Amino acid sequence: MLVTTRSGVGRFAPSPTGELHLGNLRTALVSWLSSRAGGGAWIVRMEDLDRVTSSQEHERAQLADLAAIGLEPDGPVVRQSDRFERYEAAIARLDALGLVYPCYCTRREIREAAAAPHGDAPEGAYPGTCRELSTAARQRAEAAGRRPALRFRSDGRTVTFQDRLLGAVAGVVDDVVVRRNDGVPAYNLAVVVDDAAQGVTEVVRGDDLASSTPRQLELGRRLGAPPPTYLHVPLVLGVDGARLAKRHGAVTLARLAEAGVDALAVRARLAESLGLAEPGERPGLDELVARFRVSALTRSPWSLAGTEFGAASAEPPRGSISADD
Ligand code: GLU
Repeated sequence: MLVTTRSGVGRFAPSPTGELHLGNLRTALVSWLSSRAGGGAWIVRMEDLDRVTSSQEHERAQLADLAAIGLEPDGPVVRQSDRFERYEAAIARLDALGLVYPCYCTRREIREAAAAPHGDAPEGAYPGTCRELSTAARQRAEAAGRRPALRFRSDGRTVTFQDRLLGAVAGVVDDVVVRRNDGVPAYNLAVVVDDAAQGVTEVVRGDDLASSTPRQLELGRRLGAPPPTYLHVPLVLGVDGARLAKRHGAVTLARLAEAGVDALAVRARLAESLGLAEPGERPGLDELVARFRVSALTRSPWSLAGTEFGAASAEPPRGSISADD
C-alpha cells in the first residue's frame, strides 16, 4: 500500500498495449484532478496481464505522455505482471468459500448458449453451463484435453452503485472469469485485488467499464475489500462517431506534436472538453485543481467531429493503406 500523508488514493490503470490516445489522456486528467482536488495521492498501475500485447516500451511511452501533460505518479508504478501471487491468493480465498468453479466451455459454446434467453443476466453473460457439472463430466472434459477457466459462482444479485458523475448504476452480477484457461488471472479479479492492496479509495476510468463495476464490487465484497468510489468518464468519439481508437489517426501526443499541437495545448483542450476551461485558455494544473468540481464535468461523450483534432484525425496514420490506394 502506498504510504502517504495525503488523504485518499486515486489511480490511473492503463494497459501498456499502445500509445495513450486523447480519450485515455482525458480520463487520466480527470483521475489526477479528482485526487488532487480531494487532497489525495495519485498512482499509476500498469495492467499488463496480457504479456503478448503489453510491452515496456509502451509503458515508458505512456508514462512520458502523462508527464508531458504534467501528471506524475506519487509512488512507484506497479505492474500486474509482478503480482500473480496476490491474484492466486485471492482465487484461493474465493475457492475456500466455495465461490469458484472450473469452466470448460469454448468461446463458441458460450456464444451459442448465451444466445438463448436466461433470466435477468446481462447480455453475453455466461449462461452457467459448467456451474453444476458432475465429477464425471469434469473428468471427461479433462481427458479430452480441455483446460478450464475458473469462474466466480455469483448468485445473480443486482448490485447498484452511486457513480459520482452518472448517478445510480445497477447491474446483475454474472459468473465472471477469475482465471483464464491459459492460467492468467482475469482483469476483473486483478483490478479488485490491486485497488484493495494499493489502498485505492477512488476509481476514475472510462465509462465503457461502468457495466463491469457491479461484478467488481461483488468480488470485492466477497474478498473483504473496502469499496472505492467510482467516477466513469464519458468516452471520446472519433469523427465517425465510434469510440476513439488508434485507427482514428492523429489522436496521440506524438502525432499531434507532428501536426504542431504541443502537449500543453492538448491538455488545455481536454480541460475545455470537460467544461473546466474556456476556449483558447491555457490554465495551469493548480488552476484546474481549484476549478475541479464533479458537478461541472460534461456528462456527454466528447466528439472530435468539428474540432481541430477531428480534422487532424481524419488523416489516415502514416504508412496505412486506405481503400483508395
Ligand atoms: N486497464 C483498463 C484499461 O486500460 C482500465 C481498468 C480500470 O481502470 O479499472 O481499459
